[in-house]
This record gives sequence, C-alpha cells and structure tokens, in this order.
Amino acid sequence: MIRRILYNFFQGRNGFDSIAKLTLWLAVIFALPAMFGGVTGLVFNGISMVLMVYTWWRVLSRNVYKRQAEVRRYFDRTAGIRQKLRNLKTRVSQRREYKFFTCPTCHTMLRVPRGKGKIQITCRKCGNRFSGKT
Ligand SMILES: [Zn+2]
Repeated sequence: MIRRILYNFFQGRNGFDSIAKLTLWLAVIFALPAMFGGVTGLVFNGISMVLMVYTWWRVLSRNVYKRQAEVRRYFDRTAGIRQKLRNLKTRVSQRREYKFFTCPTCHTMLRVPRGKGKIQITCRKCGNRFSGKT
C-alpha cells in the first residue's frame, strides 16, 4: 500500500540523481557547524536549509529531461576532479607495492614498483624520460 503510494508519487519525477545526492550530503555537512549556534551557526543553518530545499526541489521536479541534462553538464565539468579523486584512491590502496610519479611534462600519473632504487621512468603517454627514486 505505502509502496504503491510512493511509487505513484515519484512516478514522472526526477528522483535522487547524482546532483541531489551531492547537495543532500552538503546540506548535512553544513548542518554540523550550525549546531554550535551564534551568527556563524545561523549562516551555516541557512546554507543547509537552502541546500535541503534545492535537493527536494530536484527530487520532485517533473522536468526530468532538463534535470538529466544538468547531471550530464555536472559530470562533464567535474570530470577532472573526479579523475583526481580516483587517482588518489588508487595511490592510497596501492602505496605499499607501488610508488607513484607525475610526469613533469604531461602530468600523467605513473606507477612504478617499489624497492628498485633510482630508476629512469619513461612516461607511457608522452614518452618523456625522467629519473626517480623508488
Ligand atoms: Zn608524460
């Protein structure tokens, strides 16, 4: 019964897309310093409220086509930073076995096994050579 009502309610609406998830998280994060009170607390509380309202407006929006276009733009614009976060995750999880270098010419992340001493590293993308200590 409740499932049916919820289903009908969200039918034709945008739902929790990637942007809504992000703004919901930000709303929660901004709500934390708001607990300390004072003027700063009020400001954070205000930001959190705005983010919360925006999140729900997105979730309930019936203009799904436009919201999806916004998500595509959001992914396009954050491609660089999302790649950096993925690289960081790889570095952290493999830091014991590998040493990571960034090519000084093209800034590609390069992975080299640890414990090989001072070696010549050749960039797999641009062919630039540089030395590094593993
Ligand atoms: Zn390179």
